[in-house]
This record gives sequence, C-alpha cells and structure tokens, in this order.
Amino acid sequence: MVSRFPDRLEIVALAARHNGDALAQQAERFRPRALALTDGDANDAFRQRHPRWAGRLLPADEEALVDIATMDDVDVVLNALVGAVGVKPTLAALGAGKRVALANKEALVAAGALVMAAAAANPLPVPLVPVDSEHSAIFQCLDGRPRDHVARIILTASGGPFREASLDELATVTPEEALRHPVWSMGGKITVDSATLMNKGLEVIEAHWLFGVPPEAIDVWVHPQSIVHSLVELVDGSVLAQLGVPDMGLPIQYALTYPERWTGACPRLDLTRCGQLRFEPPCTERFPSLALAYAALRQGGTMPTVLNAANEVAVELFLAGKLPFMGIPRLVEAVMDDHDPVAVESLEDVTLADRWARRRAGEIASRFAPGG
Ligand code: MG
Repeated sequence: MVSRFPDRLEIVALAARHNGDALAQQAERFRPRALALTDGDANDAFRQRHPRWAGRLLPADEEALVDIATMDDVDVVLNALVGAVGVKPTLAALGAGKRVALANKEALVAAGALVMAAAAANPLPVPLVPVDSEHSAIFQCLDGRPRDHVARIILTASGGPFREASLDELATVTPEEALRHPVWSMGGKITVDSATLMNKGLEVIEAHWLFGVPPEAIDVWVHPQSIVHSLVELVDGSVLAQLGVPDMGLPIQYALTYPERWTGACPRLDLTRCGQLRFEPPCTERFPSLALAYAALRQGGTMPTVLNAANEVAVELFLAGKLPFMGIPRLVEAVMDDHDPVAVESLEDVTLADRWARRRAGEIASRFAPGG
C-alpha cells in the first residue's frame, strides 16, 4: 500500500517476530528509521547478516513493539500482530496520541475495555480505525451515524473451507486442509480460526467493542462469495452494506487514509460478473467456536481474554498435530468452564487471565488429543 502512494505515505518503523529476511527486504525498500525483531535468534542473525544497516534495530523483546508504536514521528500505527501480544503496543500507541489501524482483533477480544478506554482518552476524533474487512465495512456504513440509529450489525463469513463438511468429516481434518482457505489468503493462525469459525466469534467480540453494540444485536450470516463485507440494519429497517472484491487492499488503504478517500489501485467490483450471492445462517453444531465466543462475550470480564488465550494454544497444538480439529473448540470450552471471570480493570487483570488460560489449556490438552 505504501509503495502505491510513495509521495503520501512514509514508513517510519517496521516490526516482525522472526522473519528477518522479509523484514530486511522491506527495510531495504522503504528505509525506515527503526526495526523491531522480537525473536532473539532472528534479531542476532539480522545483526550478523546486515552489519551495515544504518537504522536502529531494537533489542529482541516485546517492549520493542511499544517503543516503535510510540515513536515521535509516527502518525498511524498499523497493528497486524497476531494474538494477545498486541494488547500492550495498542494501549501504548493510543496513550501516545497515535491513530491505530487495527488488524489485530485479539487485542480487542483480550482487553476490549482497556483498549476502548485508551481510545476515549486519545485526543484524536477517531483514534481507532478497523482493518478487519467486516469491521471496515461496518465502520464505512456507520460513517459517524448516532448509535441510537443502529438496530443490528450483521457480520458476513465466508464459511471457510469446511462450510459443507459433515461432523464426521470435520473429525479428521488435517492442518494442511485447514490452511487451504477458499477465498482469503492469510497467515496460519487466522486461517485455522476461519476454518473453525472462531475467527467470526472473535469478530463478534471485536464488533461489540468497536461499535458499542450488545451481543444480541450482532448476527452472523455465512456468505461464501465474500462480496458483501458486512451490513448494518438501522432502527427504521433500512439496511446498509459495503461491497467489494475480496481483497484486503481497500480496508488497509482506508484505515491509512481515513477520513480521506484516495483514488487507489484496488481491484474494482463488477456485480454483473459475480453470479449469485448467497446468504445462510451458520451451523453452531458443526462450528461450536462461534457459540463459545457469544457465551464469552455475554459472561464478560476476563472470559473473552480466556477464550482467546485458550484458542491461541489450541490452534498451535492443532498445527503441531497434537490436537484434532474438533478438539480446538472442546479445549477452549473446557478452559472456559474452569474459569471464574473477574472484571477487567487493569492490564494486570488481562495478563493474569491470559497466563492462567494458557497454562490451563496446556495442562488439560491431552484429554482432547488424537485418540484421547
Ligand atoms: Mg475479518
């Protein structure tokens, strides 16, 4: 996106966890002032391979993410971290008066109350702009409309690769099958989340925090063509939708240019060539993760934090071949059953619940192991 608008956008800093080669290529191309590489080995390797790198390379720890998210000459922080690791840099960026373009939905799921409080204290009129395509769609439909005009938010879901799979078929899904998404090309964690529909569950929680809508006013429709990115129903029955080809370019661009609209290079939609657009309700028997996310949101406090942390562990175990596909929601549910939620009043409340859930998930995962 930045390479499409070289006169209008400048990269000040870049971060990665362990892909030092990709980071080096981008650094070569965009010449940022600072780099963060949080994995220790990758950080060492980068220093050895690029001894003449002229910018700053921050020490290999998660504080580096906070450092670059709060640098003086940064206007917008595009947070595309994966998981609850994104909570602290999001809070720090908002606290430093930056605009956050948020692709890291887990930050809102794990610590929504804290993130929204930090956004409210930020002097910018709109400090938090969603990058998630569904939330970008809702954000564009709402366009500053008063909250009391909104009756319902409808998130669309592609349904993932197993939309039509039976329960028996779901029992034997392999990581390779789960990583083959029919519409969107994304990283491993979110692709597995899309296959279980946990991604949509996390997005329900994300929508609750971003738009101040209660869980009973958030619906999910499976829409395999992924042309309608989401819809908003107003109190008089009028329904607004945002449409576009399934391409992350537009939501990323709009989060960077908001409130402006720039003539972009994003692909254009021709509805006459899209064929039929279909919509259907999701099946929560085959995809229990969605119901778990609604339950966590209704229970509130630290329960969504625990849902998210247990899911992060479950997805890692699944990708490592240590948990069957349907073991993902079973493990998440079991960890939630063991948790008594408390109110989220500080970052420590989130950190403790997150840590507890990861440990608990690890302790009981073998109950759901293949053949277990
Ligand atoms: Mg999405």
